[in-house]
This record gives sequence, C-alpha cells and structure tokens, in this order.
Amino acid sequence: MGEERRAFVGLGSNLGNGPTNLLIAWQRLGEVAGITTLRLSSPYRTEPVGIETEYWFTNAVGELATTLAPEQLLDAMLAIEAAMGRDRSRTRDRAVDLDLLGYDDLVVDTPRLTVPHPELVNRLFVLAPLVELAPEWFHPVLGRRASELMVGLTHPEKVERLAWSSQGGEACIRCE
Ligand code: ADP
Ligand code: MG
Repeated sequence: MGEERRAFVGLGSNLGNGPTNLLIAWQRLGEVAGITTLRLSSPYRTEPVGIETEYWFTNAVGELATTLAPEQLLDAMLAIEAAMGRDRSRTRDRAVDLDLLGYDDLVVDTPRLTVPHPELVNRLFVLAPLVELAPEWFHPVLGRRASELMVGLTHPEKVERLAWSSQGGEACIRCE
C-alpha cells in the first residue's frame, strides 16, 4: 500500500433521482479498497452546460483519502458509472458522472486523464460545491484558490444549493 493522498471528486446526475444517485455513487466509492470517503458537499440543482439536454443536473463534490494512484481511482470511478447504468454510446444524459477534480497537488496530463480536471475552472456547478467544502483548495497549475476561481467566473450558469434532507421527489426526473 502506498501513501495516503487527498482527492476531490465531482458527482453529477441528470437521469432518475439525482440526489439518490449521487448518494449511492458516493457510498460505492467508499466501499472500494484503498478509498476512504471523508466529506460530501450539499447537492446543487444546476443548469446543463456543454451538453444539449432538457434535463437539469444534480451536482456535488466529495473529498476522499486514497492509497490508489490517480489512474486506479479513475478506474474505480468509471466502474461505478458503468454499474449504475451509464451508456456512453447513446446519449450524454447520465444517471451518474464521476470526475476526478484534483489529487493532492499533482498534475496529470495523459490521453485518459487530466488532473486537475480541465473544465472545473469554467463551471460554477463544480466550483460552488468545491468552495463549500474546501475554499482554500489550491489549483496547482493556475496558482489560485477555489474561492478565487469561483469569483472569477464571467458567465456562471444557474446553480441552486439544496439540502440532502430536502429530497422529496421533486428532484425526480424521468423516474420510471
Ligand atoms: P464528461 O465528464 O466531460 O461529461 P465523460 O464522463 O464522458 O465526460 O468522460 C470521458 C473521459 O474523460 C473518461 O473516460 C476519462 O478517460 C476522461 N478523463 C480525463 N480526465 C478526467 C478526469 N479528471 N476525471 C474523469 N474523467 C477524465
Ligand atoms: Mg465524466
């Protein structure tokens, strides 16, 4: 077992019950050997960006400790997405999307993994929950804190903070 590292994961869902899907995915991540889930932000109701869809998203950010290398952590995340029914071939709507936002102060740039996540600086739906959890999180390439990145957004999409306890069905989209 290697040394323990701290990582932030972005969770998103726009199919089925968003808050429930995020909680299930977060619990499954915590069941992976070598991952300890630490904290989860509030859920946020967010306007879709970068995807043509009528379905709004639920997003959150989680903090975990891990002995897995970044690529192994990504494998675990993609396995959970697949197990929860994500089908990349059909539509970009998804029951759950898990993105590796940051991994200690590491910088990764390979064909299958870019860390910090390249889009996090443009997305209020990532920065708002990240700032809730870790305003001091430091972007190792840009040299800016999460809170500074968030106030620097010029055209933020609509994002509303919710509470986990408020899930009473109204967050349910296309629930079969
Ligand atoms: P998006 O999250 O932008 O909607 P996908 O979830 O379909 O896109 O991700 C497609 C691919 O992005 C993944 O298979 C993975 O190899 C790659 N990828 C690169 N960097 C990251 C990262 N930091 N977190 C998650 N996936 C990443
Ligand atoms: Mg993704």
